[in-house]
Amino acid sequence: MCWTGSSPSSASVNRKESKLLKYQDIIVVGAGHAGIEAALAAARMGVRTLLLTSNIEHIGQMSCNPAIGGVGKGHLVKEIDALGGEMARAIDATGIQFRTLNTRKGPAVRATRAQADKDAYRRQMRNVVQNTDNLVVQEAMVERMLVENGVNVGVETMSGEQHLAKVVILTTGTFLRGLMHIGTQQESGGRSGDTASLGLSAHLEELGFPVGRLKTGTCPRLDARTIDFTKLTEQPGDPDPVPFSFETETFPLRQISCYLTYTTPETHDIIRENLTSSPIYGGAIQSRGPRYCPSIEDKVVRFADRDRHQIFLEPEGLDTHEIYPNGLSTALPLDVQVAMVRSIPGLENAEIVRPGYAIEYDYIDPLELRHSLETRRLPGLFLAGQINGTTGYEEAAAQGLMAGINAVAKVRDQDCVQLGREQAYIGVLIDDLVTKGVGGEPYRMFTSRAEHRLLLREDNARQRLSALGRELGLLDDARWERFESDERDAAELRQYLSQTMVRTGPAINKLLASYGVDRLRDSITADHFLSRPHVDWEMLQRTGVALPEGAERHVTLMLDLKYAGYLRQQTLVADRNRRLEKTRLPANTSFGEVKGLSAEVLEKLEMVRPETLGQALRIPGMTPAAVTLLGIHLKRTGPRA
Ligand code: FAD
Repeated sequence: MCWTGSSPSSASVNRKESKLLKYQDIIVVGAGHAGIEAALAAARMGVRTLLLTSNIEHIGQMSCNPAIGGVGKGHLVKEIDALGGEMARAIDATGIQFRTLNTRKGPAVRATRAQADKDAYRRQMRNVVQNTDNLVVQEAMVERMLVENGVNVGVETMSGEQHLAKVVILTTGTFLRGLMHIGTQQESGGRSGDTASLGLSAHLEELGFPVGRLKTGTCPRLDARTIDFTKLTEQPGDPDPVPFSFETETFPLRQISCYLTYTTPETHDIIRENLTSSPIYGGAIQSRGPRYCPSIEDKVVRFADRDRHQIFLEPEGLDTHEIYPNGLSTALPLDVQVAMVRSIPGLENAEIVRPGYAIEYDYIDPLELRHSLETRRLPGLFLAGQINGTTGYEEAAAQGLMAGINAVAKVRDQDCVQLGREQAYIGVLIDDLVTKGVGGEPYRMFTSRAEHRLLLREDNARQRLSALGRELGLLDDARWERFESDERDAAELRQYLSQTMVRTGPAINKLLASYGVDRLRDSITADHFLSRPHVDWEMLQRTGVALPEGAERHVTLMLDLKYAGYLRQQTLVADRNRRLEKTRLPANTSFGEVKGLSAEVLEKLEMVRPETLGQALRIPGMTPAAVTLLGIHLKRTGPRA
């Protein structure tokens, strides 16, 4: 059960009655990508929710690149959609370029990515958040948690207002003690244009939370009117774009191109000559940034043999001239940024609209969390998003959604909702965070983090998660009926394919040869035919098999047929792993009493406090032998209340 604390009582909270606002069930602090999903999920599940954020104008602000999705991240967005979250619908409504990545690779790594009209995305999210039943939005900077009998019972704002609630979800992103760097200049801020949250992380530290420091950075923004696009390679979106949301049928905004250019040896010389004035290399920044999203300084130093790096010029919207030069994240002084930018083909006369900068911020070690995203240290307090050491809008949104769902479970005294690693990338993300931590560097999602990649494709997110979304009350009748109707169509099509023959013969084999596909020795059913490599709906139709209209949209059916053998194998392994997940370790397990554990293993167990034997096995450095000892101990002592 999630609910571990006692109910709030007024005894030890220094309540300021005159300023006490209405009591809420759930308070969400922060309206970035995590906060939005958390607040919407809680409110849509019927629980009174208050969203407190330091700047209402910046609800849903994209702090860095104007894009959603990509490999691993797109998978998260599809899962958020399947569960009834908002991110997919918002990007479909405001996207200005959509692409499916990795179309030539296996289906597990195919992923959707879209450029957003950044302002439109923000307006869209603000509109949804401010027009959702059960959800109240207020502008306030939260400074402290209200704690009573060791339980979090609310928050106090900078202006001294106290708000009480059964559950508080903190989603403060990069704002905790945020410090921005451009060259040797430093300025306090949560991100450009926002004040930092200074009191809160000191207060969390006082409460005993382990607070660490990370950094990230962003690119200078360029004025499109000063760029010579004739020198650049155009990158149009897909001619037949695929939306993120399974509900979307049309894209309301005009679709536009991005452009590709490259750094030059001159760019690299400018960077090398000025490394000492970079806060990253001059020593001003000690904390670590995302390894897979390095600054241009990092790239030039780490890949010294490369004479150029790709720069994608991405428009920030339809009504702005601002261009985001993806790949050019930097914290060099502004004059160096200007010289560096102008050494790149097409950008010789480019004007910088806003400088690039790096930001350092505090995060809380996610090993403090349960799978529900509730902190073990302070029952009633949940954390989601960048505050947990992750990076990325999608990772934040995924955690926000689950924190919102689990906050409701806590309010209702119900079991937590935990997604398995074989069930969703969201499950992988949260399990990694609470089991392995982030190892001192920002965590981002990759498909390689999942052991059951073929089971966790973008296309089958609905099949994996929609029933749960419906059960939780996050999918309305219309969405659910559409899903069920699609499933019925797929089942009928599958049956039809299994009963329809593709007859071999010289004409068909000639056709197959023209596609470079192996000849057909014997006649086979259409589903077997489709399971062969490189065979698709079009080929099937050309063999003379009549298909119902729209058959080609059943991507999941096609992939399930093609990869049936691998999927069976992965399901077997996943089932075996699930058995270990079912063996729960009681919250009060005394690991010190387990005979035969090394001091190192004991320390890890105490730090993570795994909730199941399966989770224990995934702790880095844990040995199967140690888990066997745990199992024996569990059998001997039996589950304790
Ligand atoms: P945020 O989107 O940061 O939202 C935090 C919210 O909390 C805001 O609404 C804020 O107003 C509110 N808030 C904060 N403190 C308080 C308080 N005390 N009281 C009330 N409200 C509060 N991600 C990448 O994947 N790749 C990148 O290259 C990348 N670069 C980045 C560069 C910069 C300069 C920055 C700032 C971020 C970058 N990110 C990058 C990270 C990305 O922006 C975040 O991962 C994502 O926005 C996190 O979402 P979130 O909801 O956790 O927090």
